Amino acid sequence: SPFDAAATRYDDVPFQRAGASGIPLPRISLGLWQNFGTGRTLDSQRAILRHAVDRGVVHIDLANNYGPPYGAAEATFGTVLDSDLRRYRDELFLSTKAGYDMWPGPYGDGGSRKYLMRSLEQSLTRMRTDYVDVFYSHRVDPDTPIEETVHTLADIVRSGKALYAGISNYPADLTRRAHDLLAAEGVRLFVHQPRYSLFDRTPEAELFPTLRELAVGSAVFSPLAQGLLTAKYLDGTVPADSRAADSRFLDASALTDDYLERIRGIDGIAREAGLSIPQLAVAWVLRDPVVTTAIIGASRTSQIDDAVAASTSPLSDGVIEALEPFAAGV
Ligand code: NDP
Repeated sequence: SPFDAAATRYDDVPFQRAGASGIPLPRISLGLWQNFGTGRTLDSQRAILRHAVDRGVVHIDLANNYGPPYGAAEATFGTVLDSDLRRYRDELFLSTKAGYDMWPGPYGDGGSRKYLMRSLEQSLTRMRTDYVDVFYSHRVDPDTPIEETVHTLADIVRSGKALYAGISNYPADLTRRAHDLLAAEGVRLFVHQPRYSLFDRTPEAELFPTLRELAVGSAVFSPLAQGLLTAKYLDGTVPADSRAADSRFLDASALTDDYLERIRGIDGIAREAGLSIPQLAVAWVLRDPVVTTAIIGASRTSQIDDAVAASTSPLSDGVIEALEPFAAGV
C-alpha cells in the first residue's frame, strides 16, 4: 500500500539547530547500524522507517558497511526509499560515512581520497539517491594525512553529492584541525558524531568543550549503550529477542556485576521520575545543548516512541544529580 506520512509528523519531536549551521535536526535520529541487514524481514524494516518518518524522526544515519553484510543497510534503505519514501526525499536528512573496512585491499578502508570518493558513489547507488545530506569521515586514519581526508570532504560538498561535511570518532585536537582545514576551504564542519551515554562520558572532557567553542553540533551514537540502558538485562540474563543475543557487537559478557549494580540504581531513579530507563537515558544525553541529536537504534517501532517521548521530557537537576553515582566517570 502506498505510504502517506502522518500529517502530524512535525508535532512530536523537537528540532534543534546543529551548532551555528542553518540546519535544525530532530533531537531523535534513527541509525541503521543494526537491524537493517539481511537478518530481519523487509516488512519489519519498512515499518520502522515509516514510523520514524511519521514521528518526525527524519534524520536517518547510515554508513557504507552497516548490515550485515556490508552495504545491506544502505540497500534496504534504498528499497524503502523507492517503495515508500521517494516523495519525501527532501524532507529527509540522510547521512552516510566511510572510514572503516568496506572492500578488500588498501583502497577500501581508511581516509584516502580514493576510498572516500568511490565509497560515496557506491553508497549513493545502494541508497538510490543522487545526494546525501551529510557525508562523514567515519574515523581518524593515522596513515592518511588529515589534509587529504578533509580536502576530499570539501570537494564532496562542492560536488553537491553531500550537502554537509561531518567527522566521527575524531578526538578534540583533530576535530579542531579538521574544522580549521575545512574553514580554510570555505566549508563549515557541520557535525561531529561521537559515542555518548550514561555509560560513556568521554566527550565531556575535551570534545564537547571544543565543539561548543567551534559552534559545531553533535549527533551522539549509542545513547542507550546498545540497549544496556534499558530494563531488558536487569535480571542478568539475555532475552532471546535482544541485541546481546544476536549481535557480534554485544553479548552476555557485558552483564557484569558492576553493570547490574548501576542499571538497578538507574532503574530506581527512572521509576521515581516516572520514566522508563531508555527514556531517562535519552533525556540525559539531550540535557546539554551541545548534543544536537541522539541517534538511537530500533528493532521495533515502540522504541522510536520511547525516544521521542524522552525528547520532550527534560530532566530536573535533582534527577541528573541522583544519576551521578551510577553513571560512568568523565
Ligand atoms: P542505542 O544505544 O540506541 O541501541 C539501540 C538498541 O537498543 C536497539 O536496537 C534495541 O536493541 C535497544 N533499544 C532501543 N530502544 C529501546 C527501548 N526503548 N526499549 C528497549 N530496548 C531498546 O544505539 P545503537 O548502538 O544502535 O547506535 C545507534 C546508531 O548510532 C547506529 O545505528 C549508527 O547509526 C550510529 N553509530 C555510529 C557509530 C560510529 O562509529 N559513528 C558506531 C555505532 C553506532 P534490541 O531491541 O535488539 O535489544
